[in-house]
Amino acid sequence: MVSPNHDVERPSRSAPGVLVKRILVVEDNEMNRDALSRRLVRQGYAVALAVDGDDALKLAAATRPDLILMDLSMPELDGWECARRLKQTPATASIPIIALTAHAMLGDRAKALEAGCDDFDTKPVDLARLLGKIEALLARNPIP
Ligand code: MN
Repeated sequence: MVSPNHDVERPSRSAPGVLVKRILVVEDNEMNRDALSRRLVRQGYAVALAVDGDDALKLAAATRPDLILMDLSMPELDGWECARRLKQTPATASIPIIALTAHAMLGDRAKALEAGCDDFDTKPVDLARLLGKIEALLARNPIP
């Protein structure tokens, strides 16, 4: 049985003929996950949800999203290791990843970029700022 967390939420008002970009949100905290996905859907993105790192690896390989938002602190497989594995796997290596963390620690950004993440932002999310980073990466790195 498929967990309801795997349901892809589709925006209700996407213009016909416009290719909807798909974002995979990787976040172990249910409230953060739901809030962020709702805000992204409202912006016109199609959102899939992964509840942990293993889930993210499977979903990313199976669905090839246009971009991944990756929480860094997760139990078991954390966001750094998950990003590293995604970037080492040919099928998922070209998918841009934005790391998200509640930690204001200086080393987090460097560690995330070192793990292969393409950008980094902090939680709570500043939506306008995050959307700017999402759009910049989607424009830079179109997946054929
Ligand atoms: Mn977390």
